[in-house]
Amino acid sequence: MEPSEIKKEELNNKEVLLEVKGLKKYYPVKKGFLKKVVGQVKAIDGVDFSIYKAETFGLVGESGCGKTTIGKTILRLIDATAGEINFEGQNLRTLDREGLRRQRQHIQMIFQDPYGSLNPRMTVGELIGEPMVKHSIASGAANIKRVQELMEIVGLNPKGYKRYPHEFSGGQRQRIGVARALSLNPKLIVCDEPVSALDVSIQSQILNLLEDLQKQFGIAYLFIAHGMAAVKHISARVGVMYLGKIVEIAPTDHIFDECRHPYTKALMSAIPIPDIAEKRERILLQGEVPNPLNPPTGCRFHPRCSKVKDICREKEPSLIEVSPGHFVSCHLD
Ligand code: SF4
Repeated sequence: MEPSEIKKEELNNKEVLLEVKGLKKYYPVKKGFLKKVVGQVKAIDGVDFSIYKAETFGLVGESGCGKTTIGKTILRLIDATAGEINFEGQNLRTLDREGLRRQRQHIQMIFQDPYGSLNPRMTVGELIGEPMVKHSIASGAANIKRVQELMEIVGLNPKGYKRYPHEFSGGQRQRIGVARALSLNPKLIVCDEPVSALDVSIQSQILNLLEDLQKQFGIAYLFIAHGMAAVKHISARVGVMYLGKIVEIAPTDHIFDECRHPYTKALMSAIPIPDIAEKRERILLQGEVPNPLNPPTGCRFHPRCSKVKDICREKEPSLIEVSPGHFVSCHLD
C-alpha cells in the first residue's frame, strides 16, 4: 500500500473531534452620527472543515484571509456570526456559560508572539499554573508540583518557576506558552503561527516538541501558518484559505504532490528549494488580496487567477471532493 493510501485509511478510521460547519464572521461597518451599518467585512464567509482526534490540521493562507479569526471563533474569544462549531458533538455556539467553561478547558491556544502573549509581571509558575487555579484543578503545593512537571515535559528547567518571562529566550518563552496550554490536559490546541516569530534554528525544536506532545498525549492541533513550508512536516491534512473561504483541503502529501487550485499552486511555488540546481517556476500573483468588505463576484480569486474564465466572474465554485479526502473549489475541476 502506498503511504498516501495508508494515511487515507488512517483518517477514515479516525473519530472527528471538531467539526466546523458554515462558519461566518462578519464585522459591521458603521458610518455617520447614527452609526448606520453601511456594509459588512466578511472575515470568514462559510467555512467547513473537521479535525480528527490526535490529528494536526494545517490552515494556510496570506495575512488577512481569516485563518486567525477561525482560531479565535473556535475558542469563542470572538463570537461567530453564523455556523456551527461542534466539539465532541456539542455545538460550542449554543452552550450556556457553564457548559462553555467546561468545554473550553479542552481547547487551548498557543500564540504567535511568545513575548506579547505572556504577562511580564507574572512569574513562569504563575503563568503556567493560572489556568489550573481558574478551573479549580490544582492550587497551592499541588499547583507548583504540576507546574514543575509541565516545565520538565516542555524542556524547561523546573527550578526556574519563580523567574519572569523576560529572563527567558524566545524559544523558551514559547515553551512556557506550550506548558500553559498543556496545563488543562487539552484535546485540541489552536497553534496560531507558533514558530513564525522565532529564529529558524529554534523553529524545528518547537515543532518537534509539539509532535512529541501529540504522540504522548493524543492532542489534536489546528496549526495556522501563512506559508506551505511551515505545515508540511507537522500536518496530516492541509486546508488552504483565500479571502474568508477554504479553497482546497487534502491530505498533506496530496497537496504537495498534486495540488489543484491555482492559489494553492502559487503558494507552493513560493516554497524555497534547498537545492540551487533544481529550478521551479515561481507563480507571481498579480495585485493585492481584495478588500473583504467588497469581495469579487463569482470566484473570489478571479482577479488574480491566470486561468480565469467567464464563468469564474459570475458563479462561485463549490468545494467539491475530487478524490477521496481531496476537496477543491474551482471551476477547472
Ligand atoms: Fe481561477 Fe476560475 Fe478556478 Fe477561480 S474558479 S481559481 S478564477 S480558474
